[in-house]
Amino acid sequence: MTRLVMKFGGTSVANIERIKNVARHVQREVAAGHHVAVVVSAMSGKTNELVGWCKEGAALYDASEYDAVVASGEQVTSGLLAIVLKDMGIPARSWQGWQIPIRTSDAHGSARIEGIDPKGLEAGFARGEVAVIAGFQGIHVESGRLTTLGRGGSDTSAVAIAAAIHADRCDIYTDVDGVYTTDPRIVPKAKRLDRVVFEEMLEMASLGSKVLQVRSVEVAMVHKVKTFVRSSFDDPSDPKPGTLICDEEDIVEQQVVTGIAYSKDEAQITLRDVADKPGVAAAIFVPLAEANINVDMIIQVVSDDAKTTDLTFTVPSAEYERARKILEDNSDSIGYAGITGATDVVKVSAIGIGMRSHAGVAARAFKALSEKGINIRAITTSEIKFSVLIDAEYTELAVRTLHTLYGLDKA
Ligand code: ADP
Ligand code: ASP
Ligand code: MG
Repeated sequence: MTRLVMKFGGTSVANIERIKNVARHVQREVAAGHHVAVVVSAMSGKTNELVGWCKEGAALYDASEYDAVVASGEQVTSGLLAIVLKDMGIPARSWQGWQIPIRTSDAHGSARIEGIDPKGLEAGFARGEVAVIAGFQGIHVESGRLTTLGRGGSDTSAVAIAAAIHADRCDIYTDVDGVYTTDPRIVPKAKRLDRVVFEEMLEMASLGSKVLQVRSVEVAMVHKVKTFVRSSFDDPSDPKPGTLICDEEDIVEQQVVTGIAYSKDEAQITLRDVADKPGVAAAIFVPLAEANINVDMIIQVVSDDAKTTDLTFTVPSAEYERARKILEDNSDSIGYAGITGATDVVKVSAIGIGMRSHAGVAARAFKALSEKGINIRAITTSEIKFSVLIDAEYTELAVRTLHTLYGLDKA
């Protein structure tokens, strides 16, 4: 019998009515003769509420207790879906991450899956049971503590379980019917894609398209899990295929640019009049790296006297205050005249494996954005994407401009 993983996100299990609708999707696949493992998220809004309670409890809350709290949202929905399935006459049982177990690192709040023992799930399949698994959770076996996989981590639970049980397919059901050329909530002209290449999906996810957690795409790519993104709001008796994440050779017609992503999770820092001499970049970036702060875009301007330079770079907005403090504490060893920053900035990116073989793709964007009066603060490029940092107020205009420029608008 073929094995299938079906993952349902927060809006798909937001209340009992929706959980019953999820159960009907599961019923269809069971009736088609599959062994099914279902992975569920917490009800939408629940994880935010739980995170808020932790912060209220203590500004510097203990990370392992944070995991104990936030993992509870998925415990509720996995139990509820199992209750509903059993009531429909479908044998099922709920599984918490620790019960399987899903073994992870001890990086509480953003743990990585290290291994999944499929034996318990397989024994359940042999008994004809649907496994209803709480997503997002794992266990650090050595300490016996619960862990969670980072926000959006149920996607990764699903794909990793699919790899562990050698599932034929992993279906990620969400509140949109597939992966679009950009976030359909801000660009109504966005088009649904039938297929997206793993590498592109990886870039889209890491550059802000939260439809899949980045790590889930990595796991799917490494373990060759056939992954679809599709809608849980489709009629369970008439499902649509959604978007397949696939290898490059499975793409028939390749566009130069496949998608546009944006991320508000950026902050800009500029150091003025830094000495233009060897060792300065190290003096700035080593302390930040030691504090685990990821620096992304970096631009250096050589000033007229060639003795000093301005250095601009970005850090995740959540790390902005901490990064500034580190730079201020190290001001003597770095040596700069002033420090300025901005958090009302956004990174807009265009992604496409077609960029490998086309020159001037980014240059067209710079021109189009300048024609709209949008100032570019920083730029980064790589083989299959480029990103620009702009003022947050121009987010939608910039995304729409690039979407149109690269011919992605739906007819
Ligand atoms: P779930 O709760 O099911 O995990 P998420 O909210 O995490 O759902 O992800 C789905 C959302 O991702 C969509 O509602 C959509 O607004 C957003 N999104 C951002 N970029 C894209 C994209 N390129 N294609 C589809 N959805 C996208
Ligand atoms: N409930 C968790 C979150 O909101 C995990 C998930 O939904 O994937 O981040
Ligand atoms: Mg999600």
